Amino acid sequence: MSIFEVVYWAALVAEMIIRAPLNKKRKEEKMSEQHVSSQEKIILFLLLISMMILPLIYSATTWLDFANYSLPPWAGWLGVVMMVGAIFVFWRSHADLGLNWSPSLEIREKHELITRGIYGVIRHPMYASQWLWVLAQPLLLQNWLAGFINLLVFIPFYLLRVQAEEQMMIDRFGEQYKTYMTKTGRVTPKLG
Ligand code: SAH
Repeated sequence: MSIFEVVYWAALVAEMIIRAPLNKKRKEEKMSEQHVSSQEKIILFLLLISMMILPLIYSATTWLDFANYSLPPWAGWLGVVMMVGAIFVFWRSHADLGLNWSPSLEIREKHELITRGIYGVIRHPMYASQWLWVLAQPLLLQNWLAGFINLLVFIPFYLLRVQAEEQMMIDRFGEQYKTYMTKTGRVTPKLG
């Protein structure tokens, strides 16, 4: 296994460790709204395949070798730097969002609008972290299937999700969310 594959798997374990305590606590939460379309379920399933299953087949077998490519070392190291950034942003967003986090679009009974910490700069740090991840993946896993498919699946997921999520937040928090939108960017800080 190359050093870049090791970094990929370490990052996956890091995300699981960051998320595990929240996943456990969330089970006791009461939800007041849940919006999970069948379209989203399909995309979430495809994301799981492209983030875990294809990389696993790539690292554990030679079946995907026909789709390998080779990048210069600096590209792999750029992937490492991006992955470290992804994990940092992932960690901060979980720390700031706490129990308001959910894997699908949900509003809990005691939902609080978070505008502090990393949410004071961007509205979707978790998706920003996922952008960094899907862009780093083809640099770390140098294979057209294990490296690139996650990016292809993530683009429609992001476009559908962010739109529906902001609408849900506006419906729930109204002017408070609209004001928050004027002060922050979606996945990059607002300039000026
Ligand atoms: N889009 C955010 C959160 C992803 S988790 C991010 O990328 O960091 C998805 C859930 O987070 C949604 O169901 C919504 O209920 C909740 N959420 C999104 N933004 C929020 C905010 N600023 N404050 C509180 N909850 C938020």
